[in-house]
Amino acid sequence: MKTHPALILLAFFFLSFPHSGGAADANGTAEKVTLKWLGVVGWDIRVGKTTILIDPFLTRRTAAREREWQSDEAAVLEQIKAADYIFVGHSHADHAADVPFIAKKFGAKVIGSQTTANLMLSAGIDRARLTAIKGGEKLDFEDFSVEVIESRHGVPQGQYEVSETKELVSPVSRILGRHFVEGGSFVYVFTFGNRKVLHQSTANFVEAKLPGLNPDWALLAEPGRAYDLKSALKALKPKTIIMQHFDEWRAPFSQALPPPRRKRAERFKRDILAVEGAIKVIIPEFLKTYTLE
Ligand SMILES: [Zn+2]
Repeated sequence: MKTHPALILLAFFFLSFPHSGGAADANGTAEKVTLKWLGVVGWDIRVGKTTILIDPFLTRRTAAREREWQSDEAAVLEQIKAADYIFVGHSHADHAADVPFIAKKFGAKVIGSQTTANLMLSAGIDRARLTAIKGGEKLDFEDFSVEVIESRHGVPQGQYEVSETKELVSPVSRILGRHFVEGGSFVYVFTFGNRKVLHQSTANFVEAKLPGLNPDWALLAEPGRAYDLKSALKALKPKTIIMQHFDEWRAPFSQALPPPRRKRAERFKRDILAVEGAIKVIIPEFLKTYTLE
């Protein structure tokens, strides 16, 4: 892999993050952590005074390949009221396209692949606010820490090949739809005090990386045929699974869960329970907040 000069600067910046404990007070009591589902694999997580977003995509429409991307700013701001950190699992439009607008609006720091970093630089975001990851990093923040796990992109419905990983190797003058390339896919494992939350942005894993992660909660994409659910669940042993990425991401919330999508979610729930009946499985509702147990 080519080392972009930005990567060195970004690595330096990553080292400058504050290092302290997790989400627990002086008595060791776990601090309240809430997670609001934003559709697709988007989450708004609150811990203490900190707002963490993962893959927030509220514009909910396709990015035309040759047209300059424009977020639906009103739709975004209707849901997003703050952002300290934004984590991007991979750089396809339904994960990354609203991140430049949100990061600029709220002054958030952005963590993602080199492709994600180049998209942000293209949008004029200062490189001091960007952290480029490759997988294997352990990042410490004031209220939480994050382990970055190398992953793979899922197989879209009706296809048989895992899509090719493409990268945006340098910033561009205008972000067009075709610049939202995968850029590598990552699983994030967040630690809040003594609780761990795993986020999977696309329905695949590098299975060898899963043993030992042991999340309390796993936010999993509704799977296609890319990985073996049974062996993944045996390795991960989550207590609770919230599924995601089962909605129609190109439709407004009011139309984004037609009956076949709801059926897919229910089938996924049955498949999970067939592997391990003790797992609590949640099919989330749009914009509903869940409290981490
Ligand atoms: Zn994708």
